[in-house]
Amino acid sequence: MGQARKVHAITVVLISVLILRLIPVAGQGNPSSPTDFDLVIFGGRILDGTGNPWFKADVGISAGKIVEIGKIDPSRGLQRIDAQGLIVAPGFVDVHTHLEGAIELVPDAENLVMMGVTTVVTGNCGSSALNLAEWFEAISKNGIGVNIASLVGHNTVRRAAMGGDFNRTPSPEEMRRMRELVQRAMEDGAVGFSSGLEYLPGAYANAYELTELAKVSARYGGLYATHMRDEGEFVDKSVSESIAVGEQADCPVEISHLKISSKKRWGEASRILKLVEAARDRGLQVTVDQYMYPASSTDISILFYPWLFEGGGGRVHERLNDPTAREQVRKDVVNKARAQGFNDLSFAYVASYDKESSFNGKNIAEITNRIKNKTDIVSQADMAIEMLEAGGARLVLRKMSEADVETILKQPFTMVASDASVMGQGGSSVPHPRNFGNNARTLGYYVRERKLLTLPEAIRRMTSLPAQTFKLWDRGLVRPGMAADLVLFDEKRVADLATFEQPKRHPMGIDYVIVNGKVAVQKSMGTQPRAGRILRWKIQAAQPVSVSLSAEQSLRARDEEILRRFKALQSEWKAKRLTRDEYLAALLDLQMEEVKLFDVVRKSKEVDPEYWARGRMDYPTVIGKEIRELMKTK
Ligand SMILES: [Zn+2]
Repeated sequence: MGQARKVHAITVVLISVLILRLIPVAGQGNPSSPTDFDLVIFGGRILDGTGNPWFKADVGISAGKIVEIGKIDPSRGLQRIDAQGLIVAPGFVDVHTHLEGAIELVPDAENLVMMGVTTVVTGNCGSSALNLAEWFEAISKNGIGVNIASLVGHNTVRRAAMGGDFNRTPSPEEMRRMRELVQRAMEDGAVGFSSGLEYLPGAYANAYELTELAKVSARYGGLYATHMRDEGEFVDKSVSESIAVGEQADCPVEISHLKISSKKRWGEASRILKLVEAARDRGLQVTVDQYMYPASSTDISILFYPWLFEGGGGRVHERLNDPTAREQVRKDVVNKARAQGFNDLSFAYVASYDKESSFNGKNIAEITNRIKNKTDIVSQADMAIEMLEAGGARLVLRKMSEADVETILKQPFTMVASDASVMGQGGSSVPHPRNFGNNARTLGYYVRERKLLTLPEAIRRMTSLPAQTFKLWDRGLVRPGMAADLVLFDEKRVADLATFEQPKRHPMGIDYVIVNGKVAVQKSMGTQPRAGRILRWKIQAAQPVSVSLSAEQSLRARDEEILRRFKALQSEWKAKRLTRDEYLAALLDLQMEEVKLFDVVRKSKEVDPEYWARGRMDYPTVIGKEIRELMKTK
């Protein structure tokens, strides 16, 4: 009886607390008081991110969240935005970015924010911070302009585990170390595991190694995102390998920046996509992202075969100083280009070359002609080798066909992602225009001009689809309770202005961008509130690895997991990475699980009474006490 009463009491507490949670934060005062919202966006047409057609409503925002959608008197907002004539959409979620080493220097991330991006996933193509907890801490110290989630990179953990000696399969000990590093990153909030198999040291990993590491990600609910082994001649084999890894590891697969970058394979996009569709029909979650240009951008090393780079920079120079090896490298560059159907290197444009900035914006054929007065591909290969020797360069590679780009875009599982970094508008570099124009180009060119997608569908591909795929559950939709990340744009004016010649130009027609309730772009001008946050994949239970736990063991494991998550949440709260409301909401969720667990324990005949009678099940539990303390503070 005593216990029944206790359970009843806790239920009452829980219900009253749940009711409290439903009261909008802004409702603390009188609901009709003049300024009960931090921000009211009125008069706009909402495209909510689901793909539904627009509806007319105002949006009330408080404490970084959308709290009301409907008819709202603008005077109720401390701040107001007149959205007449504008579309109000969820902030764009860009799942393919490379922020490491750049966000530290350009924390406002203005190039992304100005094109409507409010949330990014970084750590792509196998390259991430090794210690995510430290990195998150370091970059959030001075504020960040966008919300950032991260993958953990295969190349990063492989280098850490194997050092410079990586042209081989890892030893069992190195494999264990890699698993550990992926696990630690997942526990630090990574959203999944990424590979970059065209780069070192990942190029030497086999599918077994990738599967073993994708399994760790899957155990934590993460996905496997892959820059595939080959995107040209063997793109179909690469797609099959990616899918096989996902199937073996029971892990969702994200194919990064899907493209066909061999001229010989142009026109085959729909055949390649059939592989993805077939996997989805079998029940494997495979999705795709894509940037909206028929050109890619990467390091000049992509023109060579990986063997040249084995052992690091010193070895590269040694090899190039050996005439036989140098001759082989020259042949490699020619053969690699020819294998992809190119008869010269005019597809390779220099984005940035420190040694000679006048090369920026020119292709290697033009440069060779100017410097060497030669037009043959062998001389162009020599030029590429000389540029590599002089410190390397970043390239823009115009190797794709527009028709394939469009075929990939038409798939319902394709999301729009930039492959961008963060950068300012200064300097002599001529980077890929996707860094400044990707989303605006989609809306202006592909939606309005080419009519390849409807506007609601394009918005879905930039918002709810990426948020769903990377489990960013409070982003990507305009709904009460969701984070107040919004973009307001004029569908008739929106356009990218960044070109391959002049790539560092912000788009037009994107008038306002809101990040966590703060206005980050106002009348198309950045305001740099640095309102972004680190988005950690919710600390959740790893699926138990052992399959033969007894009922008792699995109950205890669940209990330990609840306590572990409680401690993790507590330290997040103490480190001020959670707001009071977020902390409270998470604690209440955890308490629910606790109540459910204890319910099962009470009903189970198999449990060890001594273990469960150690005071753990007395209300209020440690979690209940923490909730009570927290409730007192407001
Ligand atoms: Zn990549």
